Amino acid sequence: MTESLEIANHKASPIPDDQGRFGQFGGIFVPETLISALQQLAAEYESARQDPKFGTKLVELNRQYIGRPTPLYFAQRLTQQVGGARIYLKREDLAHTGAHKLNNAIGQALLAQRMGKRRITAETGAGQHGVATATAAALFGLDCDVYMGTEDMRRQSPNVQRMQLLGTRVVPVEAGSGTLKDAINEAMREWMESSAYTHYVFGSVCGPHPYPMIVRDLQSVIGYECRRQCIDQIGRLPDIIVACVGGGSNAAGIFYPFVGDKEVRLIGVEAGGRSNEQGQHAAAISYGSPGVLHGSLSYVLQDHEGQTAPVHSISAGLDYPGVGPEHAYWHDLGRVDYTCVSDQQALDAFKTLSHLEGIIPALESSHAVAHVIEIAAILKPDQAVVINLSGRGDKDLDEVIRLVGQD
Ligand SMILES: *Cc1c(COP(=O)(O)O)cnc(C)c1O
Repeated sequence: MTESLEIANHKASPIPDDQGRFGQFGGIFVPETLISALQQLAAEYESARQDPKFGTKLVELNRQYIGRPTPLYFAQRLTQQVGGARIYLKREDLAHTGAHKLNNAIGQALLAQRMGKRRITAETGAGQHGVATATAAALFGLDCDVYMGTEDMRRQSPNVQRMQLLGTRVVPVEAGSGTLKDAINEAMREWMESSAYTHYVFGSVCGPHPYPMIVRDLQSVIGYECRRQCIDQIGRLPDIIVACVGGGSNAAGIFYPFVGDKEVRLIGVEAGGRSNEQGQHAAAISYGSPGVLHGSLSYVLQDHEGQTAPVHSISAGLDYPGVGPEHAYWHDLGRVDYTCVSDQQALDAFKTLSHLEGIIPALESSHAVAHVIEIAAILKPDQAVVINLSGRGDKDLDEVIRLVGQD
């Protein structure tokens, strides 16, 4: 029953192995200078996982600070309108700071504290992970620097101001396209010099081992709660669970506790953008190929020379050319199905959920909503579909109004 035991207990699968491999994917592809910092982190995490005090502290912060458990909400009017399966929303939009990101940042800040590190750093694209990390830094009294591309700083200025208000320094990254992938490169480069007193808080289930495992475990609180709530409210497990996939952390978090339940279908939704042409989407599993990005092997969007391809999505949080290695593994195993939703479909779903349920979803989450609107109609009324509503959409209002007006 306690979340601490669930985090300590890897019952769903024995992976990754101790090299951090998920089948052929994952691993550690970093410069020599980072190896010892990653080994220290892996060892500290192993000891934390077996320490009941760590689990108890995490559960307490989840409850009292993040506001967990988040509700599982039956979306009655959306269900009626779609006319098929019963649709439920796992309300990560109600977590503190408005998305699932803080589940990970709080857990990693606790690890930083255990390692005696007084400073944390992070990369951010849309700013959501930067805000979550800045929040955790304020809570624990740690110094914090967040690396952010200059283009993203321009597009997401309210989140820059939020981080600064929380006492974090936002470090502009001019390199490359001035977006997320460049911010990660810079944060990893700086970590090589500062790892003696700095913990790097990676934001998704990507990067070198042990990050994909740690972030998955910290986010799996979503899935464990959802499992109990389904049994309570539906009387059984759901038929289908759908989540959007950027790096893949909210999806991994809700999927992981269900991986062993073969009767539950799991669907990840990538950003289909404007079209399936290179540069017009951010769908690494749907259109990518195996390659190394940011320290691990997974599906990556790349050109013929193996250079990382430009990406596009209406939602800044899905605008990333890679995906976590465990998703690549689940895809190849056939355990999780991956599909795409276009910018336009996501926008339509954003409006539909706002009108019908009074819930304004993040544009990222709207991708999952859009896919469920499509499939629930052809399912039976006694079937149940859960959408992981990864975040709230207030941050997206300017962008949506710019694109569609206030209709
Ligand atoms: C960051 C973010 C995402 C994408 O990240 P994942 O690691 O794929 O979960 C999705 N939804 C919201 C609301 C986000 O802030």
